[in-house]
This record gives sequence, C-alpha cells and structure tokens, in this order.
Amino acid sequence: MSSGIDAVIRWLGDCEQVFAQHSAELNELDRQIGDGDHGSNMHRGFAAANAMAFNDNIPPSDAFRRIGMALVSSVGGASGPLFGTLFLRIGQYWREPLTAEDFVQAVQAGIDGVVARGKARPGDATMVDALAEGAAAAEQAARGGASLRDALTAGAVGARRGAEATADMVARRGRASQFGEKSLGHVDPGAVSVALIIESAVRPLS
Ligand code: ADP
Ligand code: MG
Repeated sequence: MSSGIDAVIRWLGDCEQVFAQHSAELNELDRQIGDGDHGSNMHRGFAAANAMAFNDNIPPSDAFRRIGMALVSSVGGASGPLFGTLFLRIGQYWREPLTAEDFVQAVQAGIDGVVARGKARPGDATMVDALAEGAAAAEQAARGGASLRDALTAGAVGARRGAEATADMVARRGRASQFGEKSLGHVDPGAVSVALIIESAVRPLS
C-alpha cells in the first residue's frame, strides 16, 4: 500500500463521491437537531478540495494543508473550521511511509486541534465522539501490531460506533445544544461525516 500522494488523491475523490451520495441523509440528520445544511456543507467542501489539482510530487503533508484550507473556506458553518483544523493538523503529523502508529498520532493531533477550537469533549454528541472512538480503536489495533490498513479499518469501525453512540447523548456543543434533552435519540451529523471520511480512507488501500 502507498500512503503517498496517490492514495491521498484517491481518498479525496472517494470523499467527494461519498458526500454527494450522503448529502441528503446528512441534511436530514442536521434538520432534526440543527438547520439542515450539514450534508450540503460537506459536499461543497470536499468538491472544492477535490477540484484542486495536486502536482504528483507534492508531499502528502502539503496536500493535507491545502485540503484543510479548502475545507475552512468552503464548508462554512460551525463544522468548516473544525474539519479544516483536523486536516491541517493531520498534515503536520503525516509521515511517509505512514505507519499505523504515525496514523494514530496524526489523528490524535487532529482531535486535539478540534477540541481546542470547538471545546467539545467526548460525550457532548459531536464529531469529536466519532473521532475519539475511532482513534482509540486504531490505537488499540496499532499497539497489537496491526498494519496501517488494519488499524484504519479498526478506526473506521470505531468511528461508526462513536457516531451511532451520539444518539444516546445530550448535545452540549454547536447548534444541536439548543435542543437540550430533545437531542436525545438523534445521531449527530458531523459524527457521521467523520465515520464516512475514515471509511473512505480504507478503500484506497485495497
Ligand atoms: P452549522 O451547525 O453551523 O450549521 P454544520 O451543520 O455544517 O454547521 O455542522 C454541524 C456539526 O458540527 C455538528 O453535527 C457537530 O458534529 C459539529 N460541531 C458543531 N459545533 C461543534 C463544536 N463546538 N465542537 C465539535 N463539533 C461541533
Ligand atoms: Mg447545520
């Protein structure tokens, strides 16, 4: 497997498609506890990021920096700067070739950036729940000697579990927090986006 720019470009193209497919569903999740734009926001952001032409020789760390900036300026909403920060930070910690441990470290740095900006903690029913559960699962796999592919697969499963778990949490950050207890029973759209992004990252490796 390559963790080089080819894999990053394939992952980015896959993300644009995935957000095109899931845009309506994410808008509907956001309509229930927000303003109904999350799917459109993410689709617009990844379309803008994917439209950037990367030179084949660009280091993945630079590509992630540019992807992060494209997301900040194109996603909009509360989530734009948070997803942007996530990728800017991941870029800073990307190593080539990327090991499972490097991946975990990069994602952890990304989460720290998102938490510093948005002040959400695990349990607040946000994208942080999917990130934290995904990172924990990937870390456990990496500690057990998993390959990058297997650690990413474990991370994707963890992120999906973390996203689903937000249904049992009262939202304490972002627009959904205005719904208070009424947010119970609703899955957080940003957390689902995190699961979709990590699931998309597994595919370019196969
Ligand atoms: P907006 O809420 O401005 O309409 P979006 O709909 O694009 O923006 O994004 C909503 C998502 O952003 C939520 O589902 C949640 O996961 C995430 N989010 C919002 N505020 C925060 C925060 N302070 N910390 C972490 N995530 C947040
Ligand atoms: Mg919204």
